[in-house]
Amino acid sequence: MKINEIFYSLQGEGHYTGTPAVFIRFAGCNLKCSFCDTNFTSFTEMTEDDIVKETEQYPTRHIVITGGEPTLQITPSFIAKLHKAGKYVQIETNGTNALPEGCDIDWVTCSPKYKAVKLQHIDELKVVYEGEGQDMSQYASLKASEYRLQPCDTQDVERNKEILRQTIDFILKNPIWKLSLQTHKILNVR
Ligand code: SF4
Repeated sequence: MKINEIFYSLQGEGHYTGTPAVFIRFAGCNLKCSFCDTNFTSFTEMTEDDIVKETEQYPTRHIVITGGEPTLQITPSFIAKLHKAGKYVQIETNGTNALPEGCDIDWVTCSPKYKAVKLQHIDELKVVYEGEGQDMSQYASLKASEYRLQPCDTQDVERNKEILRQTIDFILKNPIWKLSLQTHKILNVR
C-alpha cells in the first residue's frame, strides 16, 4: 500500500472532533480540488501488517483512514486486520468510489467534491462551504445520519471570516446542518 504518512493526533473535524486517533493517510487522489490543503503525493510502500503494527504503538482504538482518496487502495483484509487488532475504523472519503466489497468500515465520513457520490452508506456528510451561491441542492438526496457544513479555508483571513459568517447563516436557515470547524488548525496541532 502507498502510504503518505501515519501519525497520532486529535480528530479535528466533524462528529469525532477531539477524539485521539491514529491517522493513516493514503497517497494519491482521483480529484484535483482547487481548495485542497493536503499533500498526498509522496509515499512509502508498506504492507497491511506493517501498517497495523504501526497503529498498535499508540494507545487509542480510533483509526482514521484518510488521503488523498483511501478507497483507491483499501482492501477487506486490511480492514479486517485493523478490527482484529481491536481498532474502530473511520474513513474520510470524497465518495466518488463505492467502498470495496467486504470493507466493513465502522464510520463513513463523506466529503463530496462536486462529483456523483457512489457510496452505499454514509454516516456523516461533511460539505466544505465556499460561501453564498454554492449549490447545496445536490446534497439533498444524500442520506446520512449527520450533516456537517465546514467553512472553506481560503488562506485569506478576511475571506475566511466572511465564509464563516455565511456558513452560520446557512445553518441557521437550514438546521439539518451542523457546523464543523477545522479545530486542529485553531489549536495549531496536526
Ligand atoms: S478529494 Fe480531498 S484529497 Fe482529493 S484533491 Fe479534493 S480535497 Fe484534496
